[in-house]
Amino acid sequence: MARILITSALPYINGIKHLGNLAGSMLPADVYARFQRARGNEVLYVCATDEHGTPAELAAAAAGQEVRAYCDEQHALQRDIGAAFGLSWDWFGRSSSPENRALTQHFADVLEDHGLIEERTDRMIYSIDDKRFLPDRYVEGTCPVCGHRPARGDQCDNCGSLLDPIDLIEPYSAVSASTNLEVRETRHLYLLQTKLQEKIRAFIDSRTDFPALTKSIAYKHLDEGLIDRGITRDLVWGVPVTRRGAPRPGFESKVFYVWFDAPIEYIAATQEWANATGGDWARWWREDQGAGDVRYVEFMGKDNVAFHTVSFPATLIGSGEPWKRVDMLKSFNWLNWYGGKFSTSGKRGVFMDAALEILPADVWRWYLTANAPESSDSAFTWEQFQTLVNKDLADVLGNFVNRILKFTETRFDGVVPEGGEPGDLEARLYADLSAKLAELTGHLEAIEIRKGAQALRAIWVLGNEYLTEAAPWTALKSDRDRAAVIVRTGLNLVALFARLIQPFIPFTAKVVAEAVGETAPTLWPSLDGRAELTRLEPGRPVTAPPVLFKKIEDADVAAWTERFGGAEQG
Ligand SMILES: [Zn+2]
Repeated sequence: MARILITSALPYINGIKHLGNLAGSMLPADVYARFQRARGNEVLYVCATDEHGTPAELAAAAAGQEVRAYCDEQHALQRDIGAAFGLSWDWFGRSSSPENRALTQHFADVLEDHGLIEERTDRMIYSIDDKRFLPDRYVEGTCPVCGHRPARGDQCDNCGSLLDPIDLIEPYSAVSASTNLEVRETRHLYLLQTKLQEKIRAFIDSRTDFPALTKSIAYKHLDEGLIDRGITRDLVWGVPVTRRGAPRPGFESKVFYVWFDAPIEYIAATQEWANATGGDWARWWREDQGAGDVRYVEFMGKDNVAFHTVSFPATLIGSGEPWKRVDMLKSFNWLNWYGGKFSTSGKRGVFMDAALEILPADVWRWYLTANAPESSDSAFTWEQFQTLVNKDLADVLGNFVNRILKFTETRFDGVVPEGGEPGDLEARLYADLSAKLAELTGHLEAIEIRKGAQALRAIWVLGNEYLTEAAPWTALKSDRDRAAVIVRTGLNLVALFARLIQPFIPFTAKVVAEAVGETAPTLWPSLDGRAELTRLEPGRPVTAPPVLFKKIEDADVAAWTERFGGAEQG
């Protein structure tokens, strides 16, 4: 039995995430976790909310809440919506946990002990009226390059120039619009990534089976040369800056930057899990305490790859301690909304809560895995969504399950029929199925989510083609034994489907399994088509379930386009 540690990129705390976030990290991680559990492997899948930083502080202030209370509420929202989507986290933690505070402070200590952290003086914009230093993007003004106003302090959206907020003309605070700003000197800790350049390159070189997207991003940053990164900020909400357990002199009003503490939360979330359940976190993360045989797989969108191939490894490698490092970093391109991007701030696209108001989770899970943005960006459109859902789920999978079970109820008293011997048609089906099962299993082992969905769909099609060709309703008129063989084979296909769809559409898997008298469709099938299609014992009662998937009508598409927008925004 293999041991597989799975993490998906931490969603930021402020607000329900859109379907693009789900498609590019949490959902594929869940499909993979469910598949590996079904394979009989020991899996630990952790995720968490990323809670620190200026956006959380400002969102809490806008909501009139203390930031801790705001995060409590938002964390619960995200946890519940994730559960409603069937995300099977073993633990959904919080980067604001005591575990993460202690671990972040520990890493800073050991990195400094190894000469990898030093204090430097920065010049930053201070807003006198807001009583705070402003992060670059919270200073706005006129672009010194093109004259556009407002330009953000980090970048001008009009001409694309990368800016320093100090260079903005007539700057003001994006928090309060106050122009009462001044440049102040402030001390910060820097992580000396330049000293780790060669070690990190050697680490990436050693991960030969990283996907091309992951490697290209990692090497781009390495080739450009790593830079030393500030890992503290002048903020209240975050992990306090300490040295050997005591407040660090001069840093009493500073915290570690989210960029530093968020990935450490993968480990801390495992500690949270261990503290809550009695589990052993160290055997997942410490190679000197049993994690040597763990395979660690990370899931994320491409915007997070640099942090996970350079920054987080810098923390782990620089510590000199035997921490488990990522073995497979599965990265995704963007799921776009028509021609443009989903946008949390612009409220463009469908968000996770609204999605569940209009359709069951499995419909979304299927669409988002069948269109996983793996080799390139993919685009959501209502029309493509309607076509795919109706064809795959209603016409192919749903229709097969209902057709064979209804026929069994009306013609075979609702039990798996006995009698007859499989013939040539079944022999061909066994062979075709064996090949497809190997294909599907291989794609999921390789974390090729989209190809996996295609192979699964091909197996449903195989079942439909068999049933159409074998035509039990015709056979029944002349040869009851022949009809019994076909129906028995069809019911075995239903039972097989229940196990195969479980990673993708787990809620439907449960309904389908129960229809053929199976309670726990947890184990992945063998690759032997014959064995899988002769498994159900004759005489077992079966029941046709209600229609599995309602077709999406043109009127639905019109209503949703009206509610959520569509092509006109693209
Ligand atoms: Zn400009």
